[in-house]
Amino acid sequence: MSKVHPNSPKNYTIIGQGLAGSLLAYMLIQEGQKVQIYDSPDIPSSSKIAAGIYNPVTGKRLVKTWLADKLFPFLEEFYPKLETDLKAKFFHPVPIFHPFPDTATQKFFKSDHVADDFSDFATAEFENIYRKGIVNSTLGGIAISHTGWVDLKVMLAAFREYFLERGVLVEKAPPAPRGGAFPFDLESKVPPLGAEGASVLIYCQGFESTKNPYFNYLPFNPVKGEILDINIPKFDIQEIINQGVFVIPLGGNQYRLGATYTWDELDNIPTETGKSSLTEKYQKLMKPSMEILSHQAGVRPATKDRRPFIGMHPEFENIGIFNGLGSKGVSLAPYFAKQFVDFLVYQKELHSEVNINRFASLYLGVK
Ligand SMILES: Cc1cc2nc3c(=O)[nH]c(=O)nc-3n(C[C@H](O)[C@H](O)[C@H](O)COP(=O)(O)OP(=O)(O)OC[C@H]3O[C@@H](n4cnc5c(N)ncnc54)[C@H](O)[C@@H]3O)c2cc1C
Repeated sequence: MSKVHPNSPKNYTIIGQGLAGSLLAYMLIQEGQKVQIYDSPDIPSSSKIAAGIYNPVTGKRLVKTWLADKLFPFLEEFYPKLETDLKAKFFHPVPIFHPFPDTATQKFFKSDHVADDFSDFATAEFENIYRKGIVNSTLGGIAISHTGWVDLKVMLAAFREYFLERGVLVEKAPPAPRGGAFPFDLESKVPPLGAEGASVLIYCQGFESTKNPYFNYLPFNPVKGEILDINIPKFDIQEIINQGVFVIPLGGNQYRLGATYTWDELDNIPTETGKSSLTEKYQKLMKPSMEILSHQAGVRPATKDRRPFIGMHPEFENIGIFNGLGSKGVSLAPYFAKQFVDFLVYQKELHSEVNINRFASLYLGVK
C-alpha cells in the first residue's frame, strides 16, 4: 500500500526506466507522489546488460567498499521485499570465492590485521577444497559473504509491468512542447513540462546524460563493458568465482562471464577484442572448458570521483538527476534512491559525497 503524503503530492516526471529510474519512481509512488516515466526502447540501457553482482569486498587488496556497512544491510532487506511486491524472482544471494592469484597475495591475507579488517564480510581459506577441479589456483582465497547478483533484466521487466498497470510508463522519449527540443530547452530557460509549479523532472538516463545540456558539466567517466553468457558442461558451480573476471552461475549449465573495462569507443557494440580478453582471462582462472552462447556490451555511467550524481540542478531547481551509479548500481541504487526520495519529499539532507552541489562551481564556470 502506498502512503498518502501529508503535504500535497508533487508531479514527478522521470526520464529513464533503468535501475535508477525504476527504483526512484517506485519509491516515490510508495510515498504517494504522482509519477510519470518516459523510457525509450531505442536508447541503450546499461542495466539490461549488467551482470548485477553486489559485493562488499572489492579491489586488488580486497577492502570493504565505500559505505558497505550501510548499503549492504539495506539492499539485503530491500530486494526480497521488492520481489514480493513485484511478484518476480530476481534476487540471488550467492557467495563469492576470490582465489589468491599468487603466493604474495596469499601471504598478505595471512596477516592478522588484514583478517580483522573485513571479518564481518569475508574469511580467508588457505586451500581449495572442492574447487580443485574448477579453479586453476591451489592457494586458497577469500570467501566473501553478503554477496550475490540481481537479475536486472527480470527486475526491469517486472517493474515495466508494475508501471504499465498503474498507467505511469510511456515507452518513448518525452515530447517536445513549444516546438522546442524537449527536454533540452536551455535557451529559453522555460521549465520543462510547462510552468506547472509543482512539477519536478528527474533525469535517470544513465550514460545518455553525458549528452544532456543540463547535466553535461558533471564529470562523468563512462566505461564500456562487455559480457558473455557461456555454457560449462558437466560442472555444478554453486558460487560466483571472481579473479580478474567473474563467473556467475545462472542455473543449469549456464554462466555469465564478465566483464571488460574500456574507456574508448563508448557504444554498445560487442567486439572481438572484448571477447578474446574475456576468453583468455577465463582460461587463466578456470579449468573446465566452455562455449560462448551470447555476447553483449553496454556503457556504465561512471564518474570521475567514483561517487553517484544525485540532486537538483544549480540553476533550475525543479530539474534533478539520479545517475553516476558506475559499476556498482545494484548496491548503490536502493540506499540512495531512498535517500533521494527523503530529500525530495521530506527535505532531508543528501549525503555530501553524492550531492551534485559539490560541482556547482563547474557549472558556473561553463555557463
Ligand atoms: C557489462 C556491464 C556489466 C555490469 N555489471 C554490473 C554488476 O555486476 N553490478 C552492478 O552493480 N552494476 C553493473 N553494471 C553497471 C550497471 O549497469 C549500472 O550501474 C546501472 O545499471 C545504471 O543504471 P541507470 O538506470 O543509471 O542507467 P541505464 O540502465 O542505462 O538506464 C537509463 C535508461 O534511460 C533511458 N533513456 C535515456 N535517455 C532517454 C531519453 N531521452 N528518453 C527516454 N529514455 C531515455 C534508456 O533507454 C535506459 O532505459 C554493469 C554494466 C555493464 C555495461
